[in-house]
This record gives sequence, C-alpha cells and structure tokens, in this order.
Amino acid sequence: MDGYLSEIFVSFQGEGARVGERHLFVRLAGCNLRCRYCDTPDSLERRPLWYYHDPATGQTSVRPNPVSAGELLRLVADLCEQDPSLQMIALTGGEPLLQAKFLREFLVGTKLSLPVLLETNGVLPQQLALVLPSVHVISMDIKLPSNAGERAFWDEHRAFLELAKSRECYVKVLIDWNTSVADVEQAARIVSQVAPQVPLFLQPIVDGEGRFCADSGTLSALFGIARRHHESVRVLPQVHKVLGIP
Ligand code: SF4
Repeated sequence: MDGYLSEIFVSFQGEGARVGERHLFVRLAGCNLRCRYCDTPDSLERRPLWYYHDPATGQTSVRPNPVSAGELLRLVADLCEQDPSLQMIALTGGEPLLQAKFLREFLVGTKLSLPVLLETNGVLPQQLALVLPSVHVISMDIKLPSNAGERAFWDEHRAFLELAKSRECYVKVLIDWNTSVADVEQAARIVSQVAPQVPLFLQPIVDGEGRFCADSGTLSALFGIARRHHESVRVLPQVHKVLGIP
C-alpha cells in the first residue's frame, strides 16, 4: 500500500512526556482539521513531493509521493541502523491516522529496532484501533473549540483515550488568551474520568512570530482549573521552538 509523506527528519522531541529525546520524525501529509494555531501548514494537504532531510549530510532532497510501505520501512530501518543515538520513531503530521492502513502495513512488516510514538489529534478512534498493537507511546491532543476554531470533539476524544490508555499515553491541550475555562475543565474531566493515570500537558500556543500567546497569569489560572479535576497536570512549552530547531 502507498502513503503520502510530508517530510522525514531527525531532531529532539519538543513536546510532552518524551521531551528532549532524539527522535526520527516521519511526518505524514494530510489533516482532517484546520486548527487556527496550526504550526505545520505544509503538511495539511497531500502533495506530489516530500522532503527528506538527510541527518548524515544535513542536505535536503525532494522525493516523489506516494511512497510504498516497504520503501518507507527500508528508509527508516537504514536511518535507525546508521544512528545509534536515536531513541524513538515519531509518526506525526498532519494527522497520521488518516493513513492508518498504510501505517499498519509499514508497522506490521516492521522489524524496527526502536519503539514507535504516535502524535495525533485524537479524534479518529477507529483508525487508532488499526495501528494500536504496533504503537508504544501515544501523544494525543484534546482540541478545545475556544482556541482551535473547530467544533468540539469531546465524544471522539473520550473514545480515543479509552483505547490509547492501553499504551504509554499523554494528553496535550493547547492554551492561549482565548482559551475558555469551560473547555479546559471539560478536557481535564475527560482525562480524569477515562484515564486518571495519564498526564495532561498544558502547552502554550506560539504565534507566527514565535511569541507565546499565554502570560504567566493565564498559565496559572488554567493550570489551577485543570488541577481541580485531574491529578497529573504540567505546563510545558514546545522546547524545539525555544531552541530554534525543527
Ligand atoms: S490537527 Fe494538528 S496538523 Fe491538523 S490542523 Fe490541527 S494542529 Fe494542524
């Protein structure tokens, strides 16, 4: 089966519970949402070309889409072998689960030496079920209508977390000055009710100019709201943006 990529690169994980680890990022193309704050606009649509950032040479080459699961497997396996410092393969997007069947073929045939982390918007539980046996860590978002500009997905997020909690899992909620208290309460309630052991990360949104869109008062207030409902809450910015790396 063939799939559409956006880019492949190596960097430090900048978000959530695995922050600071060295990951091989496989960014898939296409997304079912259009969040107002999206910071990967180039990955929202499937395109005829994708970018390979070669970690050995630092060079970027342009390659054609679509890519077969076997081709992706060979490339990823080679990269893992070449760089023993890598700690995990991060499947990201866009929304990688839009290509769940492609991923399933890639992962099931995989004799990869590294565990797999799935970064997802957390609204496609049926697609998650297709790849769940081959995924080790799940980083899922809970999208808040007050800042994402999308409709509420509370039921989808609840069903998604029911499945995701069988793996190592953490939840990210993006926040800014526009974020409603009711949305943060609802997100924290869902995590607490469905998976009380799962950590919830409040991640301040960064604008196109690289500025944080939440001051310390906003962070403190929303943290306090979340903590009223859930035990494990942390505030964490996107570290790769602080460091100025991909
Ligand atoms: S789900 Fe992620 S990739 Fe898709 S629009 Fe929202 S932020 Fe962007």
